[in-house]
Amino acid sequence: MSMEKLPIKSRAELVDRLRAMGVVGAGGAGFPTHVKIQADAAAIIVNGAECEPLLESDKHILAVEANKIFTALDLVVQISGADRGVLAVKRKYAKVVNTLKEAARAFPKLEVFELDNYYPAGDEHSLVREVTGVSVPPAAIPIAVGCIVQNAETMRNIYKAVFEETPVTARFLTCGGEVARPSIVHARIGISFREVIKACGGALIGEYVILVGGPMMGKIVHSADEAVTKLTSGIILLPPDHPLAQTNAQRREWVIARSKTACCQCSYCTELCPRHLLGHAIEPHKIMRQINLGLNVPPEIIKGALLCSECGACETVACTMGLSPRLMNRYIKQSLREAGYKGDFAGQKAVADEMWAYRKIPTERVINRLGLSKYDTHPSRLVEDLSAKRVEISLRQHIGAPAQARVRVGDAVKRGEVVGEIPAGAMGARVHASIDGEVAFVDAERVIIQAK
Ligand code: SF4
Ligand code: SF4
Repeated sequence: MSMEKLPIKSRAELVDRLRAMGVVGAGGAGFPTHVKIQADAAAIIVNGAECEPLLESDKHILAVEANKIFTALDLVVQISGADRGVLAVKRKYAKVVNTLKEAARAFPKLEVFELDNYYPAGDEHSLVREVTGVSVPPAAIPIAVGCIVQNAETMRNIYKAVFEETPVTARFLTCGGEVARPSIVHARIGISFREVIKACGGALIGEYVILVGGPMMGKIVHSADEAVTKLTSGIILLPPDHPLAQTNAQRREWVIARSKTACCQCSYCTELCPRHLLGHAIEPHKIMRQINLGLNVPPEIIKGALLCSECGACETVACTMGLSPRLMNRYIKQSLREAGYKGDFAGQKAVADEMWAYRKIPTERVINRLGLSKYDTHPSRLVEDLSAKRVEISLRQHIGAPAQARVRVGDAVKRGEVVGEIPAGAMGARVHASIDGEVAFVDAERVIIQAK
């Protein structure tokens, strides 16, 4: 689309529109998109890798909304003056790749980049390295090397915000595991997991835990009353005794004690660490050595924990002793943050290890190691526009300051109305009503709306 025909013609207008429509990174981080889009970038990359096992809602979006995604990407490229727009998708989705390549023909500056099927192909740092051949420096974000990365659903939400003036009131997610009919669900924000599970035919087992997000970086919750947010990419039902549930339930003291007893310093965790392979100064086996033995390890080794993405490759694939450098790094990060230490990595460059291209972890292997093969069903069933009579809308669905409730109990609201506003002078994101109804409850955390 030529610049004259674009409904928005300047970056300031785009920023205002995305802020007004509550668009945030849908891939999991929830960074407000109107902030991210303000930087000058040479390349805008759409992350369609969806590297977390079992999750396939981005694949669905790419297959059915390719034109909308390219139209939005083209708009962002033109308005931001970027040289190129790249949509990265896994090569294994051959049909989707063909659809995307066909759609991309209409946009001279846009291209499709095919990725291998490995974990963590969707990690921003790995993705930028794949697309540009350059490693993002340690503790930096992709803009440090001239890139802005947006998730596929985020790009769809940009399209909805710009071309349809529609705020974010729903999201696509994968519902799988122990449910009767694993599905891709387009769910209103604030709907309970219980409603999503019901729409997927119900649970196959009486007792279950819910893995929210992907198996590698998601979290386990124990209540189906929790609500879908702008960041809920998947809900996977698992038996309570599934190894993933057990791993996540380990007490910190137990994790540390096991490390001290069993780490054999084989260094496999470092050899497979994606961030180490990209050239960042993180060596998880040395961090384990320092924690376990305190021997002869310079203090900057511990600082490396701050560079851990918590991707879990060390814990799930590398360590033959069943240990978790990932959790150890998380504990160290928490301790350092509590002590007010942020680390100083300024000036550090990243030069990828020569083995980087050869140590990509096949996704099937990850699924196998996680004990999830029986749930790898590639759901094709779609639940469209799943709504409910009651929604609980979190005011903390993004990075930054929580939104401030703008409604009171008893107010009548329509879908799309602002119920939470960005506090003055703060970085944050608006939240909107996802159904028509009456406000039944408000506090600093949430707004509950009941349909009449
Ligand atoms: S979780 Fe493990 S593999 Fe992943 S970045 Fe951290 S140390 Fe490296
Ligand atoms: S892979 Fe496991 S046993 Fe080997 S060094 Fe790392 S934590 Fe220790």
